[in-house]
Amino acid sequence: MDFDFTPEQDMLRESVRKMMDKLATGEYVRQLDREQSYPYKLYDAWVEMGLLRMPFPENYDGLGGDAIDMVIIAEELSRKSFDFFTAYGGSVFCGLNVVRKGSEEQKRRWIPKLLSGEIKMSISMSEPNAGSDLSAMRTTARRDGNHWIINGQKLWATGAGATNNVINVYVKTDTQAHYRKGMSLFLVPNDLPGIKLRKLDMLGRRCVGTYEIFFDDVRVPAENLIGGENNGWDCVLSGLQIERLASAAGYCGGAQAAVDLAVQYAKDREQFGRPIGTFQSIAHMLADMQTETEAARTMIWRAAWMLAKGRDALREISMAKLLSSEAYVKAASLGMQVFGGYSYSMELDMQRHFRDSRSATIAAGTSQMQRNLIAGLMGLKPR
Ligand SMILES: Cc1cc2nc3c(=O)[nH]c(=O)nc-3n(C[C@H](O)[C@H](O)[C@H](O)COP(=O)(O)OP(=O)(O)OC[C@H]3O[C@@H](n4cnc5c(N)ncnc54)[C@H](O)[C@@H]3O)c2cc1C
Repeated sequence: MDFDFTPEQDMLRESVRKMMDKLATGEYVRQLDREQSYPYKLYDAWVEMGLLRMPFPENYDGLGGDAIDMVIIAEELSRKSFDFFTAYGGSVFCGLNVVRKGSEEQKRRWIPKLLSGEIKMSISMSEPNAGSDLSAMRTTARRDGNHWIINGQKLWATGAGATNNVINVYVKTDTQAHYRKGMSLFLVPNDLPGIKLRKLDMLGRRCVGTYEIFFDDVRVPAENLIGGENNGWDCVLSGLQIERLASAAGYCGGAQAAVDLAVQYAKDREQFGRPIGTFQSIAHMLADMQTETEAARTMIWRAAWMLAKGRDALREISMAKLLSSEAYVKAASLGMQVFGGYSYSMELDMQRHFRDSRSATIAAGTSQMQRNLIAGLMGLKPR
């Protein structure tokens, strides 16, 4: 058993951390959260640094990185803000879907633009009545010559309103079939006529933005259909493991940031003539926070190692997502307690973790759905 990173992986972690320390200063993060504005400067720096290229194959100008590289990047970006990671993850995971499921022509058309920063990507599946249950999806596309015409409404699409964003939209193309056999994936630039975007006023993750999208007779060229008609579910499944794993690593980065802030505060803040971290009740809270974060990290690394070896890791990844998301929620919540009244101030960062973390057990498959999946893999079929 070897728990060490390679020198290249250590170097990757160090360089991403250094870049984030330099650009994503406390003031920058707080300002973007306050103004609810997209981290364009940071995104450009990731492009320049080649970070977007990391998981793409070398023949598409990628760096050929694996799942371990991805969890390192996800954790480091999220130590500043999980929200920032969603901008990176949206582009990278949608792009990887094109690599896996697109035609050669589609790959040559979309991937260079994505890696150069000319376009970004986001994913849009959820609808007002279709969250955990995608069979309730109502948005449709119908063929009209060399185009498809999309009508319907999507909800909770992270980053869909960013400049030059190409929304990866899943819609029904066969309304009679089961959704797994009647859904298709389209690449839809967010400025096509007939698209209306509304940035939602959310509790957290306020920079990259969460959008409601209305499609009113949106004409999408047929060559923007990825993976073939009615093969959308296949596209979803092909990227599910790495996407969930990277999200888990992002939550772990957020949890670690909350722990680090709380530990520092517990050392600095004095009451009754001594640092509050010397009170056993506070020290034990911090010990629990670090232990749970570390347990999640260990699980994430093992799952990443399995994926990098080409093994199926659905069970381990679902467990890692469950554990890590709940560790982030708990670390941020206990972190609020450690900070006392100061936790409530918008000038300090714990409240942002408290707000941002709350989505962790909901998005990318709720905790209940992860437990359903894990139980199913244990031979139990929840009704
Ligand atoms: C900040 C944020 C960003 C998001 N970004 C995106 C995005 O970029 N793209 C996108 O497509 N979607 C996105 N989502 C949507 C997200 O994927 C859904 O919110 C999630 O799948 C849950 O769906 P729902 O909100 O409709 O809840 P519901 O499915 O209605 O669930 C409500 C509650 O019921 C529980 N429940 C439902 N079914 C079961 C069951 N079978 N067994 C046990 N419990 C069950 C759930 O666990 C939950 O507690 C985002 C959501 C958030 C909050």
